[in-house]
Amino acid sequence: MIARVAFPMAIPGLYDYEVPPHLERGLVAGTPVRVPLRNRPVWGVVVATAPRSDFPSLKKVLEAKSTHWTDKSHSLIKLYEWMAAYYHCPLGRVFRPLVRKGFVDLGEKTVAVYTPTGAQLAGLTKKQRQAADALRGEDTGLTKEELLRRHSLSQHMIVRLVSKGVLAKSQRKVYREPDELRQARGDDCVVLTDEQRCAVESVGSFFGKPSKPFLLYGITGSGKTHVYIELARTCLKKGRGVIILVPEIALTAQTIQRFRDALGGVIAVVHSRMSDGERRDSMEDLVSGRKRVAIGARSAVLVPMEDVGLIVVDEEHDHSYKQNDLQPRYNARDVAVMRGHFQNAVVVLGSATPSFESYHNALTGKYEMVRLTRRFGAATLPAVEIVDMNVEHRHGNWTFLSTYLRQRIDQTLAQSRQIILLLNRRGFSVSLLCKNCGNTYMCPNCSVHLVYHRSGASLKCHQCGYAEPAPSVCPKCRGEQIKYKGTGIQKAEEYLKEVFPHARIARMDQDTTRRKGQHVSILTSFAEQEADILLGTQMVAKGLNFPGVRLVGVLQADIGLHFPDFRASERTFQLLAQVAGRAGRKDSLGEVVVQTYMPEEPGIEATRTHDFEGFYKREIVSREALNYPPFSRLARIIVWGEGEARVRAYAAKVAQALTRTPNAGMWVLGPSPAVLARLNKAFRYACLVKSKSPRILQKAVSGVRSATAKPPKGLKVTIDIDPVDML
Ligand code: ADP
Ligand code: ZN
Repeated sequence: MIARVAFPMAIPGLYDYEVPPHLERGLVAGTPVRVPLRNRPVWGVVVATAPRSDFPSLKKVLEAKSTHWTDKSHSLIKLYEWMAAYYHCPLGRVFRPLVRKGFVDLGEKTVAVYTPTGAQLAGLTKKQRQAADALRGEDTGLTKEELLRRHSLSQHMIVRLVSKGVLAKSQRKVYREPDELRQARGDDCVVLTDEQRCAVESVGSFFGKPSKPFLLYGITGSGKTHVYIELARTCLKKGRGVIILVPEIALTAQTIQRFRDALGGVIAVVHSRMSDGERRDSMEDLVSGRKRVAIGARSAVLVPMEDVGLIVVDEEHDHSYKQNDLQPRYNARDVAVMRGHFQNAVVVLGSATPSFESYHNALTGKYEMVRLTRRFGAATLPAVEIVDMNVEHRHGNWTFLSTYLRQRIDQTLAQSRQIILLLNRRGFSVSLLCKNCGNTYMCPNCSVHLVYHRSGASLKCHQCGYAEPAPSVCPKCRGEQIKYKGTGIQKAEEYLKEVFPHARIARMDQDTTRRKGQHVSILTSFAEQEADILLGTQMVAKGLNFPGVRLVGVLQADIGLHFPDFRASERTFQLLAQVAGRAGRKDSLGEVVVQTYMPEEPGIEATRTHDFEGFYKREIVSREALNYPPFSRLARIIVWGEGEARVRAYAAKVAQALTRTPNAGMWVLGPSPAVLARLNKAFRYACLVKSKSPRILQKAVSGVRSATAKPPKGLKVTIDIDPVDML
């Protein structure tokens, strides 16, 4: 037998290897194997097996991990092949999110346990005999910690008892579980509302049958999570597995808890912040069928589970489902729909603010729409007040806090209710300017301003991570008046502490959640009312469920609107509607204050009335006029590398290759310098391809891919299908 092997990390392309007879058993497409590649042993993945190869004198497979994969129906390999073709990347790369180095190299984790032998023994000291007597009641193996806790046995004593034959030492396997799962709560008992039950029934009747994907369009707080849980229960009862995708790790902790409370120990977590050991154990649990529910961020859609009956994509509009930076540049939501198709699983995309693509698909009948129109119980949607910051300035208030929001915060604190404040901007201040000579501080590697971070007094690039000490004098003119412009979340925190000295403030952003487990502890302490104000970036906008929150304030709603991106308005509306949805989830007293310099902008205006449909109707007109999604498909091709002239010239060639074949119904924009014209020292030029026909688009991109297979030295070409990142 031969195995065709692809490499997640090493070179692209497929290579044949001979499988020695003793490794043949259990070796299938998907099995990780170690093979010699350029005389080094490297881990790859089997993508097919065959009786023989056309190539002579094959090298041999060295090692195989056959317990890591089952795919008897070949549906997963089909899915992976579809991804490689659709997103234009080598097949091996598709395995990358799953088969990390650690996944294949790590063994299981064990602990030493000690079991009483019960033997009658001579030659024990008095103390040892007492210990042996006390241990007689124990019949399972105890760890060192347990022996110490229950029987006060020291390390020294344990060693003695083993050598005397009182205790037998052995190894027991332990499962490594990520933090989120270690804090289970009591299970919640719910009776679904009529609307929720209807939703469950209309989706659930399709289990095991071919069906269109469902769009569960339900307002914030309408109980979408309970609908998912009920569907998962039904699916598990039918003996089939479940995949649940949640957008980001900041959000998973709470959602995972809710699923675990309801479904018990059948859940395995998969996300990128897990340790390799945790990942390995989760995968093994899923492959072996010990766990039947995979829950996690984007890469969970790829887990090797064979009989999947239900795939849920929570907050389906969220952009974190798209992988921008690495191959495969996939959108987990779209892959979920394809996986449902290949594995005959019901797919549910849920959101209060669906992506225009999904909503359009539901309106045109490609998806099935299911709606939840009411908040649970007594809760209604919160009242939204929009504050025009231009007017504040006119009245002489130059702080970032409007008089109105300050009042509302005061009131809410006085009532001992909680507050969430959103400021979607990391760091202390946005940029620095020398008042004397006008010098600004740019990243030496990227075309962006450096951001001042007060902790560590440094200037940081948010694109490439470059950092330098903050200057006290201008390096250009030696002037001492350096102005810190704009408000970042650290400055906001400092100011809030000054204005509300008695309030307990928790800050949540990338900088406070860097270490493992930090996001969980911030959210847990807020849930337990140990903080009054949760100040955060978009991390706090999504999916969180805190009944104690009465007021939500958005400090600067228009931050995202300045990007040259046709989705800027959609994105702003989604963010505002999501964060607004955190207020008043228990009762009808929720209120939202949105501060902005652009109160008439449609995305902001629509937040006032929670009017997704009205907003969609307005926005969709210009999408159609300009042929943007959902009325077309996009591909973005970026040429990047050393030497601006070379990059520009090669980008022009790419554009030529795109337009060479006569293409009715396809438009090519560019090449032009990307918004991030420099990134990590590389110059970047972009072409945007639009077409109403996915087929025409794919064909044109394939043409570019083969034409640019070997770009000139120092240049690279990135292909991004259905891009969401327009920078
Ligand atoms: P969504 O995900 O749609 O924003 P959630 O599922 O978080 O909504 O539900 C909002 C709140 O209402 C939660 O606290 C949830 O426990 C509660 N809730 C929703 N439906 C029910 C129900 N049928 N019984 C009890 N509580 C419910
Ligand atoms: Zn940089």
